[in-house]
Amino acid sequence: MKLLEEKILAEGKALNEDILKVDSFINHKVDAELMMAIGQDFAEHFKDQGVTKVVTIESSGIAPAVMTAYCMQIPLVIMKKQPSKILNKNLLQTEVASFTKGTSYELTISAEQISEDDHVLIIDDFLANGEAATGAIRLLRMAHATVAGLGILIEKSFQPGREKLMDQGIHVYSLARIAKLGENLIEFVEE
Ligand code: 5GP
Repeated sequence: MKLLEEKILAEGKALNEDILKVDSFINHKVDAELMMAIGQDFAEHFKDQGVTKVVTIESSGIAPAVMTAYCMQIPLVIMKKQPSKILNKNLLQTEVASFTKGTSYELTISAEQISEDDHVLIIDDFLANGEAATGAIRLLRMAHATVAGLGILIEKSFQPGREKLMDQGIHVYSLARIAKLGENLIEFVEE
C-alpha cells in the first residue's frame, strides 16, 4: 500500500536492525485518515471470504481493526493481554511471547464473544516472529471458530512470522513488507 509505505519512510524510525518505531502514526499518536484507508483496503481484499468478525490484539491493532470492521459492517472483538478470571468464567487463554517486551502475556478472550459460527479476520499492526498471530489463532480454535486470514499493516519479511503462518495454511495479507532495517535504512520487499 503506497500510502502506508510513504508514511513509514517519512516518519518511521528504525531503532536497530529488528525494530521499527511508528509512534507518530500507529502506536502512540494515530493517523485516523490513514487508518480508514487501511480499513478500506483490508475490507476490499477480504470482501468475498464470508468474514463474520474482525479480531485484534490490544492495543495497537485496535485503530486499524475498528476501521476494517466499520468498512465490512461486522463487529470487532479485542483480545486482551491481561488475565481477568474474576470478571468472567468463560475465558479462553493462551500464553504468548511478546516480541517488543521480551516477556510473555496471557492472551484472553471471552467465549461469549466468538462462536463456532464465526469466520474471523485477524488484524494486527506488525508481523515479526508470528507469536501474537499464532496465539490469536490458537484462541480462535479453542472457541471453535475458523480463520479467514491475517491482515497486517507492517510485515518484517526478514523475520519468520509469514512463513510460520503460511505453514499453518493461513492467508497472510500485508500492506507493507520490509526487507531490511538499519541505521537510516528502511527497505521494502520488491513486489
Ligand atoms: P510477533 O508476535 O509477530 O513476533 O510480533 C508482533 C507483535 O509485536 C505486534 O503485535 C507488535 O505489537 C509487536 N512488534 C513486533 N515488531 C515490532 C516493531 O518492529 N515495532 C513495533 N512498534 N512493534 C513491533
